[in-house]
Amino acid sequence: MAASDRSIGAPIRSSEEYLASLRGRRLTVYLSGKRVEEPVDHPVIRPSINAVAATYDAAPEDLDLATAESGLTGERVNRFLHLAGSPADLVAQSQMQRRLGQLTGTCFQRCVGMDAINALFSLTFDVDAARGTPYHTRFVAWLAAVQRQNLVVGGAMTDVKGDRSQSPGQQADPDLFVRVAERRPDGVVLRGAKAHQTGAVNSHWLLVMPGLRLQPEEHDYAVACAVPVAAPGLTFVLGRQSSDSRSLEGDLDVGNARFAGQEALVVFDDVFVPHERVFLDGETEFAADLVERFTAYHRRSYVCKAGVGDVLIGAAALIADYHGVPEASHVRDKLVEMGHLNETIYATGIAASHQGHPTAAGNWEPDHLLANVCKQHVTRFPYEIARLAQDLAGGAVVTLPSEQDLHHPEVGPLLDKYLRGRADVPTEHRFRVLRLIENLTLGRNAVGYLTESLHGAGSPQAQRVVIRRQLDLEARKALARRLAGIPPEG
Ligand code: SF4
Ligand code: FE
Repeated sequence: MAASDRSIGAPIRSSEEYLASLRGRRLTVYLSGKRVEEPVDHPVIRPSINAVAATYDAAPEDLDLATAESGLTGERVNRFLHLAGSPADLVAQSQMQRRLGQLTGTCFQRCVGMDAINALFSLTFDVDAARGTPYHTRFVAWLAAVQRQNLVVGGAMTDVKGDRSQSPGQQADPDLFVRVAERRPDGVVLRGAKAHQTGAVNSHWLLVMPGLRLQPEEHDYAVACAVPVAAPGLTFVLGRQSSDSRSLEGDLDVGNARFAGQEALVVFDDVFVPHERVFLDGETEFAADLVERFTAYHRRSYVCKAGVGDVLIGAAALIADYHGVPEASHVRDKLVEMGHLNETIYATGIAASHQGHPTAAGNWEPDHLLANVCKQHVTRFPYEIARLAQDLAGGAVVTLPSEQDLHHPEVGPLLDKYLRGRADVPTEHRFRVLRLIENLTLGRNAVGYLTESLHGAGSPQAQRVVIRRQLDLEARKALARRLAGIPPEG
């Protein structure tokens, strides 16, 4: 089997096999103005691949979280490829996401695919029921094969969008939203670009979906389909991340040398997709519904940030220990505040999972209101948790000399003496935890912990629109009227 084509072949059973599956694909990948021949071996890209690899290596005690019995194949499959069959399945997703956030301290990239799979499963069922199309059967056949091979699926929803005041069909350039540029007897040809694509280069498949409500005449933009990452015509331009080039210098100054996230601009330059992998083509009236279903899953998936928050709280507590002040009342209070904010994120996410409902297709979907409240918390609380971590770290988090200075034969001993905290803690340990706090609050993993928390799965206003719609103010007014002794209106 060619490494570039995982549409057939043996299942991936470990992180090593996952790494092997990525090699030799000859993708068109650019980073910092250079073509990357083999992303797996690139020191700046590799930490993001390690984070996905961690999803293949669950510890024995985490196996029930990491895998589930597939309703499609009857076999145990990776939970990132599993259709949620119950509220317990949704809850297990949330628990798994927090656990992986704890273990990697970054974005492990696979939730977008998991959420897209679940949203498309129910949506294709509904489209077929309304329009007599064959999408659901196609989708199930594709998903069963992907489950058996245990592949990584990326979800590609966010278009580059051009002039934000104009809809896709009104743009000066018609390619600013991914569209069907040509219909052939055997499939469709895609043109356009998707922005901020989490883990795109580290995936085997991309699930392309429309990203907003469409007008009836915008049928070329109503396309959902599965595209192999190695398909001809795809170009990936990786986003720059704060301090990413520190990975070229050593490990200490990186803060978290093993794990990082990844986002890419993905350009579709006339990518052919055969009919059997097209799951929506022209049914504009279902585009908004698909976005809402996907975001109901994905906005609650941001409980991953509670796992990353656990790491940051731990780092803040460690630096307080190293500074000799773990019992100072203001230190304890700040750690309590961080914990309160972090658990509030988790509480709404896991509540959204608990209060899920079944779809007509048979899988389960989280509660939309609570999922959006969860993500709204995530747009704010990590920033406050990060501020408190920097408060506890002190100014050294941004004034610390480099690893090269710490290990320098002349200046190193001076740094070891003067930058020590508690006498019994090695200076290098203080350096390492300060670098981890820097990594999470303004370095490479602040991309995921802060700005992705703000904009990922929709910027804050997108959640407020759904919260307003789901709030049912009339029902709440009726409650108030009843207790206030005001007769019902009408
Ligand atoms: Fe998953 Fe969180 Fe990364 Fe989104 S940001 S893919 S929810 S780990
Ligand atoms: Fe995301």
